[in-house]
Amino acid sequence: MALSDQSQNPLLGKWETQHEIAPFNVIYDEHFQPALEIACSEALLEVEEIIKNRNEPTFENTIEALLSTGQVLDRIVSTFYTIAGAHTNKKRDELLLVFSSKLSDHNTNIYSNTELFDRIDRVVETKHLNGLDQEQDRVLKLIHRNFVRSGAALKGQNKTRFQDISKQLAVIGTKFSQNLLSDERDWFMKLNQETLELLPSFLVEALKQAGQERGVNDPVLTLSRSLITPFLQFCPDRELRKIAYIAWIKRGANGGTRDNVKLAHQTLKLRAEMAKLLGFESYSHYKLDTEMAASPENVEKLLKKVWGPARKVAIRDEAHLTSMMRDDDVNDTLKGWDWRFYAERRRLKEYDLDEESVKPFFQLDNLINATFKCAAKLFGLEFSPLDIPLYHEDCRAWTVLRKGKSIAVFIGDYFSRPSKRSGAWCSAMRSQAKFPNEQIPIVINVCNFSRLDNAILSFEDARTLFHEFGHALHQILSDVTYDIISGTSVARDFVELPSQLFEHWLELPEVLKEFARHCETGETLPEEMLSSILEASTFDMGFQTTEYLASAFVDLYLHLEETPVDILERQDQILHQLKIPSSIGMRHSVPHFAHVFSGSGYASGYYSYMWSEVMDADAFAAFEEAKDPFDPVVAKSLEKNILAAGGSEEPAILYKRFRGRLPDPSAMIKARGLN
Ligand SMILES: [Zn+2]
Repeated sequence: MALSDQSQNPLLGKWETQHEIAPFNVIYDEHFQPALEIACSEALLEVEEIIKNRNEPTFENTIEALLSTGQVLDRIVSTFYTIAGAHTNKKRDELLLVFSSKLSDHNTNIYSNTELFDRIDRVVETKHLNGLDQEQDRVLKLIHRNFVRSGAALKGQNKTRFQDISKQLAVIGTKFSQNLLSDERDWFMKLNQETLELLPSFLVEALKQAGQERGVNDPVLTLSRSLITPFLQFCPDRELRKIAYIAWIKRGANGGTRDNVKLAHQTLKLRAEMAKLLGFESYSHYKLDTEMAASPENVEKLLKKVWGPARKVAIRDEAHLTSMMRDDDVNDTLKGWDWRFYAERRRLKEYDLDEESVKPFFQLDNLINATFKCAAKLFGLEFSPLDIPLYHEDCRAWTVLRKGKSIAVFIGDYFSRPSKRSGAWCSAMRSQAKFPNEQIPIVINVCNFSRLDNAILSFEDARTLFHEFGHALHQILSDVTYDIISGTSVARDFVELPSQLFEHWLELPEVLKEFARHCETGETLPEEMLSSILEASTFDMGFQTTEYLASAFVDLYLHLEETPVDILERQDQILHQLKIPSSIGMRHSVPHFAHVFSGSGYASGYYSYMWSEVMDADAFAAFEEAKDPFDPVVAKSLEKNILAAGGSEEPAILYKRFRGRLPDPSAMIKARGLN
């Protein structure tokens, strides 16, 4: 299709579908690239119009005008990323590169537009004359801040240097991931029949598949986390565990052309320089400035507060596991390759929890109904099936109603298939907004559950279902004017609050009694099984918390301090100062810390998982204090102050409105069994 003739391209036309959902049945892969090109050009022309305006810049003629640009582009981008993540193919994989490079150029075009920034700056200066409401004031602040943080306020050499650093960081980040992938791909270990006989059948199946994927006839162990972790848990051969463990922790640290240590060092130096150009003391200060945590000191305070109790439990567990190892006649200190193995044995002994007997109680359809029922009791929502063409036959859709009025469309795409990337996520194909036009959100939950055995889930899967549905509620209940602050458009360390919070409703006996029913007998989940599940959820938390915190401390300090000459030496020093038990390694050591070095998403941000956990435990305690998990007053306050509010205020202000104070970590420490 030539670029000139796009009159029939459905991505560019009006969508006359129900709720204006993307007309997936008429969109083909070849429509994307030309539509993207055209929509980007049109969006830039719309921006040009704003600059051409000779009138004094106002919120309306500059900020609202800017928010009205690129609407067709937004629609194309959200449609494309929905199918590229959930249902990809070779063409879509190629298009991913096209999209990321085009969109990055497009953003640079907008954020480096000096005339546009000058107008925005002027709106900020004269805002007292504009009579802005609270939400408009917030939107203005966020947009101005985004420009400043992207280097728009820099001049001359500093501006050029900033852009140069951004480009370099993108290249280095990509190389870091590629090195890691190559190291993971190249290493594998063949396993003989004798070893295989000692491993559980699910693991043997997975090892066989890994062998086939590598064109080897025998089952092989690779460095994928989903194979290594169970291997370390179940392989009784200590020598093999040692070989596997060492290969695993050396990913990215093998030198040569794939040296991630060097790349991490360059990254840290460039990030520090970038932060200084913008006037921040360190990259950590720059990064945390827009987060709820607000400062490195606050992050350090939380990490330290949890470290003590976690380390204490870990030391106690280390002694226990060491004595189990002695019973095996191994007269050595417990090592990194021993912990998971003895912990697994201990779990079997102490909890007597057999995954296989739990599973028949967790059927997908019942659990979907459980999420809907909880949303009905808490927020008065109803879910009515909606029959529309989507991008895959597995997708199911519902209209979300409240008092008879449609307030959202919810789509569930639950089953795993080769065309779907791994993991689970929630995204909005369209966010809630009232400007420039009223629009209801279209929200999608994507999971990777097995469709085998009539779609019965593990307890962890059920937790994932509730987690993603919690994100969905954040979008569905959003009630703001501007799309830029709608739903989950909040700080990274705040975004997991609604999702992690909603997981608590899965653990309620009243919910499980109604919805966890045996798929054959219809019997409800026995009480003992329920309490075993709940107790087992705090098992080995000393280990899990310390290995996580060790990585979080290293991430924080490396981005806070002057870049050390030898970052691995500094990493060792940090661990030494923390007095981490020698049998516990870091969850991610620098050379394979992809969260932090493949891109900047979690740079100086690895703490945010725990930050959110502090809030979800503390927030659920509000329902416990009311002695009713469906207490209408608490639910109403949760909706008004957190779920409906999106990013319309600083997260700390929103949280205080809900809870009357800032979150207190003690509920989380207790929930992890570390008290
Ligand atoms: Zn999440």
